[in-house]
Amino acid sequence: MMKQSIYGLAYEQLQQWLVEHGEKKFRAQQVWDWLYKKRVKYFSEMHNVNKECIALLEEHFQIETLEEELRQESKDGTIKFLFRLADGNLIETVLMRFNYGLSVCVTTQVGCNIGCSFCASGLLSKSRDLTAGEIVGQIMRVQAHLDQQGKDERVSHIVVMGIGEPFDNYDNLINFLTVVNDQKGLSIGARHITVSTSGLAHKIYQFADLNSQVNLAISLHAPNNDLRTRIMKINRAFPIEKLMDAVHYYLDKTNRRITYEYIMLRDVNDREKEALELAELLKDHRHLAYVNLIPYNTVDEHSEYQRSHSETIQVFYETLKREGIPCGVRWENGADIDAACGQLRSKQINKRRPPSCGRV
Ligand code: SAH
Ligand code: SF4
Repeated sequence: MMKQSIYGLAYEQLQQWLVEHGEKKFRAQQVWDWLYKKRVKYFSEMHNVNKECIALLEEHFQIETLEEELRQESKDGTIKFLFRLADGNLIETVLMRFNYGLSVCVTTQVGCNIGCSFCASGLLSKSRDLTAGEIVGQIMRVQAHLDQQGKDERVSHIVVMGIGEPFDNYDNLINFLTVVNDQKGLSIGARHITVSTSGLAHKIYQFADLNSQVNLAISLHAPNNDLRTRIMKINRAFPIEKLMDAVHYYLDKTNRRITYEYIMLRDVNDREKEALELAELLKDHRHLAYVNLIPYNTVDEHSEYQRSHSETIQVFYETLKREGIPCGVRWENGADIDAACGQLRSKQINKRRPPSCGRV
């Protein structure tokens, strides 16, 4: 049995665990400091922690559980990491450079069961959820890479937009958020973190009740049920009306802006008609809405979809603006390195599999 990563424990959980195992409360502060401030890789490096406590930690936990399998660097500074988990599964993590800081896109599941028809991640159905420790571990590996560069750079932002549906791995997601946000450790501000969901409405209620400052993004991608069901089969379970009920609950509860992601798929959802319909859908809460238009990254296995022409994206954008809907276009990072979610992983897995086996 692999030992679990200690990164999966929130501060209070670590403290409780140590006390239950006969240690003093203050040990938690010391261990936390070594983990997240000095960022050591082995318990034995925790010099001010007594030998018995180190032995205890070594007996029950590991620090790192991810191994770097591959790294691709883009001309624009984006770095894509392919990590191997202890059980051999592969996941992706992306580091992006923006003028406002360094943002990491993390994976939450091995594969994804939501199966959106345009997405590379959904090509491989979910084999398991990541543990909180494996999600935190991605941030720690990227931070270790930055530490090695010696430029005193810190991960400042996180987007939970890698492989998987974060709200389908809710408890581990919340533990991850608690760990990275902890002011005694990495201290990545909640407002600098965004969680993206395909629209699991019941979890949006739960997330609203947390009253957290973490940003919420919803992958809407279509303004009506016919179209949305065609590209996202999850819309059968959570049609737009249900989603909008959850949105209204979230807005009432938190008064926080929601980002709506909208992939621009050529001749599918990119006409002016859809822009007007989208504006109509969001108009009653447009002061708390932001539409992110995402030019589609083509996926080899989904040849039925192409990226909208840039003029079409511009018209869509201007239509939304004219209708008073705050919006922007997300021109991608790392276009030269398979940076769209799940693309690198799916290509690596394909290379290893005989063509007849599996879904891809
Ligand atoms: N499962 C969550 C989060 C991961 S996907 C969700 O669906 O929201 C993160 C975002 O990337 C989603 O908006 C998703 O629709 C989008 N995406 C997936 N495949 C893409 C592609 N090939 N090109 C551009 N965006 C893509
Ligand atoms: Fe899963 Fe999100 Fe991809 Fe849909 S877009 S298959 S929910 S990762």
